[in-house]
Amino acid sequence: MKTTTVPERLAANRFEIDEDESHIEVDQELCRTTGTGKAIIAVCPAGVYSEQDGEILVDYAACLECGTCLAVAAPGALKWRYPRGGFGVSFREG
Ligand code: SF4
Repeated sequence: MKTTTVPERLAANRFEIDEDESHIEVDQELCRTTGTGKAIIAVCPAGVYSEQDGEILVDYAACLECGTCLAVAAPGALKWRYPRGGFGVSFREG
């Protein structure tokens, strides 16, 4: 039986990207003052979050909808909801 690596499995995912609306919003001030910015950058398995010049950038198109960032975010620092119907990730490798 052939084993597949995590990157190979992730590469099999399909994304329908909502070009008009992000399903993730960050409160820059709360991200800075509560440490949420560093935490979400560290835990996101898809690399959705990054930091540039003190601002948290969000590449929501790559989101795997796992919810991990919500588990570490301070209240109010992150607004996250599932993408609108028809958009988001489709898993092909379980
Ligand atoms: Fe990253 Fe998961 Fe949060 Fe999406 S839900 S931004 S993949 S941690």
